[in-house]
Amino acid sequence: MKVRTRFAPSPTGYIHVGNVRSALYPYLVARQSKGDFILRIEDTDQARFVDGAEDMVLDTLRWLGLEWDEGPINLSTEEGKYGPYHQTQRKNIYLEWAQKMVDEGLAYADPYTVEQVQAFREEAKANKKAFLYRNYRPENPPEWKVGMPLRFKTPVIKRYSWNDAVMGELSAGEEALDDFVIIKADGLPTYNFAHIIDDYEMGITHIIRGSEYVASTPKYLSLYEALNIEPPILAHVPHILAPSGNKKLGKRDGAKSVTEYREEGILPEAMINFLAQLGWNDGTEQEIFTLEELIDKFSLDRVQKSGARFDEQRLLWLNGQWIRRLDFEDLYARCQPFWGSEAKDSEEGYKKQVLGIVYDRLKTLKDLPEASGYFFKIKDTNLEMISTNKQLKKIEKNRLIELLEISIKKLESIDSWNEENIQLTLNQLLEETKEKPAVIFQLIRICLTWASFSPALNQTLAVIGRENSINRLNISLEDIKNNL
Ligand code: GLU
Repeated sequence: MKVRTRFAPSPTGYIHVGNVRSALYPYLVARQSKGDFILRIEDTDQARFVDGAEDMVLDTLRWLGLEWDEGPINLSTEEGKYGPYHQTQRKNIYLEWAQKMVDEGLAYADPYTVEQVQAFREEAKANKKAFLYRNYRPENPPEWKVGMPLRFKTPVIKRYSWNDAVMGELSAGEEALDDFVIIKADGLPTYNFAHIIDDYEMGITHIIRGSEYVASTPKYLSLYEALNIEPPILAHVPHILAPSGNKKLGKRDGAKSVTEYREEGILPEAMINFLAQLGWNDGTEQEIFTLEELIDKFSLDRVQKSGARFDEQRLLWLNGQWIRRLDFEDLYARCQPFWGSEAKDSEEGYKKQVLGIVYDRLKTLKDLPEASGYFFKIKDTNLEMISTNKQLKKIEKNRLIELLEISIKKLESIDSWNEENIQLTLNQLLEETKEKPAVIFQLIRICLTWASFSPALNQTLAVIGRENSINRLNISLEDIKNNL
């Protein structure tokens, strides 16, 4: 049987990292067995519908490289022979199933008002019993018509045991079963009903979703049984936990939307790598995985049962790793939107030289302006960087001036301005001045960049160029003379 998995988001808001993991795992399972990955939009909750949310889902999946085989392609087109892939467009399918259930005595129109249900609840509470709809089934329910809520009439009340591909053997007692609404008063199905019909009609073999659905699983199993449908493989993936404490990750804990991470210069490769490992490992020490490797190695039985802690520092670390792994031209192309305004008018060749020496310090592409700005524009001198520097603050002003003058002279005398020759000259400077590298190199570095970090000094000088470097050092020299 061909493996068919699905990602079934509800377009109810921004797509956060937890949602994306619910797309990644089924994607991996489908791809590793040469199966199909289906995208279905669960848009039956009209009250929670957010305009633009679906577009964001499509965009995010594409950015991550999680291409789907069937589902919406854009707002007006779909692809695949099991469509429609929007639940609101499948309304008649649900209504047909519902009518069949009514005919077979498996569903009844719910006749009660909110006040009546409230009275039942209070009664149950007074008797110290849990409130269950199935204890209040109407004796003569009205004939069901669209516009009335329709409830599943759970035919057999029993204990259910089942196997979850992640959680293992599970079971729940009779109290987990109740008559739940399958069609709402607005004529649309509930999630509880729609997903079961859809997964069946779409030939889904694996349901991989968040663990918030474990508690309802016995209800789903009783519906599958009533409809004579073999349930798909069930895999409930544990929650992503907040960095601190044992609660589910929420917006307040920094659970940003994937779009925000993207805008902050996180690479899709790093995001995929990070999410795959939130709750899964292959049992080795390997930390960096390409999507291909994940397709090869991922397995549901190595997904952990307990919640995985969200650690943004790890995402940043992985992103740095991925920045270093990308092919240079590819990295350069992806950096385009991130250069600072100083770099706007610079030539491509120069920007590539700069990127070539700063990229290995970047954690996100958004660090680029900070890491590269001084290559494009002379920064204002900031003498405090000298007066508070651990090494330089111990040195007399006159000596600093002398050292800088010697350095400028020496650098000016270089025949051919390249990394090797600059390094030779810097080494000679050490010998001649008898100063430590921490003194002489830092002095030059600060006077050249006025930045808190920069790549190796010889590389930085090489890229900034002879004329510009000498010019900058002279400007700094004047400032030290006049103002330090
Ligand atoms: N629409 C549901 C959600 O977004 C899907 C759950 C499922 O995968 O069945 O939570």
